[in-house]
Amino acid sequence: MPSVYTHKFDTPVFKGAVEIPTGIFIDGKWRDGSDGELIDVINPATGKVITQVSAGTKKDVDEAVVAAQRAFDTVWGLNCPGYERGKLLYRLAELLEKHQDEFAAVEALDNGKTFSWAKKADVTMSIGTFRYYAGWADKIQGNTIETSKDKIVYTTHEPLGVVGQIIPWNFPLMMLSWKLGPALAAGNTIILKPSEFTPLTALLAAKLTQEAGFPPGVVNIINGYGSTVGNAISHHMHIEKVAFTGSTIVGRKVLEAAAKTNLKETSLELGGKSPNIIFDDCDIEQAIDWTIHGIFWNHGQACCAGSRIFVHAKIYDKFLALFTERTKEIKVGDPFGNDTYQGPQVSQQQYDRIMEFIDSGKQQGAKVVAGGERWGTEGYFIKPTIFTETKNTMRIVQEEIFGPVGVVIKFDDDEDVVRQANDTVYGLAAAMFTKNIDRALKCSQALRAGTTWINCANQLHPQVPFGGYKQSGIGRELGQYALEHYTAVKAVHINLGHTP
Ligand code: NAD
Repeated sequence: MPSVYTHKFDTPVFKGAVEIPTGIFIDGKWRDGSDGELIDVINPATGKVITQVSAGTKKDVDEAVVAAQRAFDTVWGLNCPGYERGKLLYRLAELLEKHQDEFAAVEALDNGKTFSWAKKADVTMSIGTFRYYAGWADKIQGNTIETSKDKIVYTTHEPLGVVGQIIPWNFPLMMLSWKLGPALAAGNTIILKPSEFTPLTALLAAKLTQEAGFPPGVVNIINGYGSTVGNAISHHMHIEKVAFTGSTIVGRKVLEAAAKTNLKETSLELGGKSPNIIFDDCDIEQAIDWTIHGIFWNHGQACCAGSRIFVHAKIYDKFLALFTERTKEIKVGDPFGNDTYQGPQVSQQQYDRIMEFIDSGKQQGAKVVAGGERWGTEGYFIKPTIFTETKNTMRIVQEEIFGPVGVVIKFDDDEDVVRQANDTVYGLAAAMFTKNIDRALKCSQALRAGTTWINCANQLHPQVPFGGYKQSGIGRELGQYALEHYTAVKAVHINLGHTP
């Protein structure tokens, strides 16, 4: 197996050759998986194999944990001052910025998202996330706490040790940055598993951590399947924490594994079925722009996608006509096309799953007003799809489709729309459109969601926490909040003269 694959891009938006390592990265070295198994990496725009990467094993995870523990005990954690960790994270951000076009191109090739969105959203957000946490690395502080005059108590926020991180395929690089940034700033060492569907930018990022100068063993990246590498991480007795992003069903398994083994601290970022509420006093053009972005950005493969679109009865007909027209105009096609908005879904499995949801909607009596079918003849493309005339019991209204499929639901009462919006097992995000500040804030307060967007949607910033209520997850990523999940608080009591 070649240890490096060179992909030559000759597209309207990017030309050049990118060298991508294809092994697994443990203790600062590239190697094959211990049993030599390989994973095909598929181009979703064509369905053809791009290259193969090594599949890691439980044995590889065990070896990575030994390396990560050694690094933690000798050169990282409390052995490396925060400002030094910050410098390395900052260098990583600089390198990523220097190579941003290559990263965007590889992300578009591997995931199917468009080059332009990969660059302006995924890569830009990842650079920002590394810079943001570079700034935090020497500002993680405890407190002094007053108890009595003959005693001083202070707290320190210490790194946890070796942490495991398991990420999905929808934002491969961005999810990696959300995981590595706070964990490294706080002084932990890492075993990260990218999704088996999209390993390439994680492998490029591993190369950058080497170039930035992170000591061997601090960042270990192991490609592989969930049932092997993911399972080994979540069950490992010497991994102190696992951070997982993915489906609720697998999140549950990760939590169970922690409960059955060493009770490792667990944070989960899971699925969603987010409401997008259009009140009758909104700016309709603005609401439509954001609703399109809300449901169709990243081809609907966003955990926070605004997939349930509630529209006030007074403007329902006007909104639906304009929204349908705009949806039909969305440019689907080559991710490297100059003006493409939507590329293919990530895989044959996801394509089949989404088409099955579309069929179920049709069979259960919902009406397709846009899309509802495949686009083109090769690859995994699906036309942006809108359903109307749905019932709350339908699968397309209740379940996360994770594709370019929205349902439009009419409402005429503010309290009732909040009740419907909350009527799901998820609680990740919610968007609302109104020019009335009281209405917006009342609605925001009543929604059971970790994020609410007023007159916008799908907005993410390194500084702002993100995470879910209910079955959308446990814990928060980004912002200062994420650091809490990568540190343990130690209370130190100093006796100045009191007796037992
Ligand atoms: P998934 O749950 O199938 O896989 C996620 C990761 O878990 C992959 O790396 C996979 O290999 C691994 N995995 C699978 N089985 C495992 C096991 N038994 N033990 C340990 N790891 C295992 O999810 P996906 O299909 O890759 O991603 C889509 C899901 O991710 C959607 O539900 C979406 O909503 C969610 N998501 C959530 C957020 C968020 O921030 N809340 C962000 C992105 C995606």
